[in-house]
Amino acid sequence: MDPRPADAGNPLLEPWTGPFGAPPFARIRPEHFRPAFDAALIEKRAEIASIVANPEAPTFDNTIVALERAGKTLERVGAAFFALAGADSNDALEEIERDIAPILARERDAILLDEALFARVEALRGTEASLALDAEAARVLDRWRTAFVRAGAGLAPEKKARLAAIGERLAALGAAFGQNVLADEKAFALILDGPADCVGLPESFLAAAARAAAERGIPGKRTVTLSRSSVEPFLRFSARRDLREKVFSAFLSRGANGGAHDNGAIMSETARLRAERAALLGFSSYAHFRLDDAMAKTPEAALALLKRIWAPARAQAQREAEALQATIAAEGGNFKLQPWDWRYYAEKRRKALTGIDERELQAYLPLEAMIAAAFDVACRLFGLSFVERRDIGLYHADARAWTVVGRGGEPIALFIGDYFARPSKRSGAWMNSLRDQQKLDGQALPIVVNVMNFARAGEGEACLLSLDEAHILFHEFGHALHGMLSDVTYPLLSGTNVARDFVEFPSQLYEHWLTRPETLRRFARHHQTGEPMPEALIARLPAAQRCGQGFAAVEFVAAALVDMELHRQSDPGEIDVAAFERRALAAIGMPAAIATRHSAPHFQHIFSGDDYSAGYYSYLWSEVLDADGFEAFEEAGDVFDPALAARLERFVYAAGGRRDPAAAYRAFRGRDPEPDALLRKRGLAGERGRANRRS
Ligand SMILES: [Zn+2]
Repeated sequence: MDPRPADAGNPLLEPWTGPFGAPPFARIRPEHFRPAFDAALIEKRAEIASIVANPEAPTFDNTIVALERAGKTLERVGAAFFALAGADSNDALEEIERDIAPILARERDAILLDEALFARVEALRGTEASLALDAEAARVLDRWRTAFVRAGAGLAPEKKARLAAIGERLAALGAAFGQNVLADEKAFALILDGPADCVGLPESFLAAAARAAAERGIPGKRTVTLSRSSVEPFLRFSARRDLREKVFSAFLSRGANGGAHDNGAIMSETARLRAERAALLGFSSYAHFRLDDAMAKTPEAALALLKRIWAPARAQAQREAEALQATIAAEGGNFKLQPWDWRYYAEKRRKALTGIDERELQAYLPLEAMIAAAFDVACRLFGLSFVERRDIGLYHADARAWTVVGRGGEPIALFIGDYFARPSKRSGAWMNSLRDQQKLDGQALPIVVNVMNFARAGEGEACLLSLDEAHILFHEFGHALHGMLSDVTYPLLSGTNVARDFVEFPSQLYEHWLTRPETLRRFARHHQTGEPMPEALIARLPAAQRCGQGFAAVEFVAAALVDMELHRQSDPGEIDVAAFERRALAAIGMPAAIATRHSAPHFQHIFSGDDYSAGYYSYLWSEVLDADGFEAFEEAGDVFDPALAARLERFVYAAGGRRDPAAAYRAFRGRDPEPDALLRKRGLAGERGRANRRS
């Protein structure tokens, strides 16, 4: 095909020759994406066609390695595009995303449903020994075969055609779902008018609220937005019960406001199509299909874990609710505790019980120091160092880049941190990759991005994080390390390309180092005086973190249970997902004063793409691993124990998907994980659970 005029001078299609081979964002404009996607798709189709047309008998090299090499340009263009679509979107990019999502899904399915290609892969199966493959090559062959089978490659043509249509439609639904949530978030801003609206709110919050108002074109005002980093502190500190209710209701109703951005029909169709896809593939439900390729293996195993936590969590939450109701009564309040009251009174109770004032704590957690702390832990565990560089043009002035230097002094990755909330950014926090590590054709160094939504501080002021936000920073940095330390040959096995219920292990494990005295003593310093965090405060933190765990576990497990039950249905039909959610919550005895962490109409983990569908439990599944895994460091008597850190790097952070996740964990820990570690970590274990525990 002739190169089209649009291809000439398209920075997406030229070699990226700047520092680190990073995308030349300064030159990339929205109109470059469609032609670049089109050209990249043509290139990939040609590469796949030549694998299929190869007259030679299938070999590992001419089939699997060739598949691994195919589609480099598409990967590059897609990585640049989805980084922008998530972190700095606009109407033009949103329109492209709606168009391109189903096209990419169709292309992926076209490859995995290609009969001749599947036949070549199948021919290699069972011949691993005669092919003399090393363990990693055998694994990549197995993963490719699994991908073909799970896409439906072995099915009759009419079933394959239906699967392809379903995949395309689901991709479009997923893109629309996320955009609807973003639209509802953009549409809301509560203006705080005068001192009466600001009672109880800390200075740092008010400064961020002023910033947010300015960004929305209402300078001189202060606004609460529907970003979690605005909503949560507002609910925790605002003494205005009426305003808390207003903000909470808007937050809860995202995606469920009727009109053009309502997600009701999207959820229903998504659930139906997912069930149909699973049935075509021979599974009794979508959840059974998804978990078959996860560490948990079956929905029942995941549910067993969720239910094991639910009862003690709910009992604990009920005790917490009674205590909060007592606080309300003691203040002369004559109302029943509601969801918009919970965080406000929980904060008061936590302060009374632990003597810790969240505002006092925040003063010791400036963003810069927490970034430095996250880097330092990586230095002590894995010998990494970080050098900030300003010669790389990124997609937004807020984004910053660091060269990551390995033990031997050589660069191993580029890390990009993009920390502040803005209207063009999706809510939440995540890690994504602009280039995955692999060494099929020489070492390709990873470029990894962490995106957060911290509220920006006022001019000239330090951005102070809540303890939760500092946890988020460490969490996402744990994912980033999983991408940056990756040391595999094949792209399919790189970095975070592991089972969904294993992928949160490196990120959640990393959070443990945040609140260790070894970290806080060095990095948690008062943003004005430079004084270290008082030892008494450091000592009280573990108790403070366990305070309110009933609430935290209930809001999480409830969301995970709804996700799993919804996707466990074999035939959802014309389901009203919101009504289903209400029934499911009633059935488990959801406490009236707690809302689930994500209600279905804005539950992006499960509806904005497939990533965590029938998979929200993954965080808890991984938490069993991180709780049990960190105990290994505690048992060693040194949270930076070099031998353990070396095993952690080798079998987890550097290993990508090279091994089955259970085997990877065993290689690191020396045994299988022990589920009670999770209850101990959350302070939900009964006395028996705690008895054989050293303090
Ligand atoms: Zn995560």
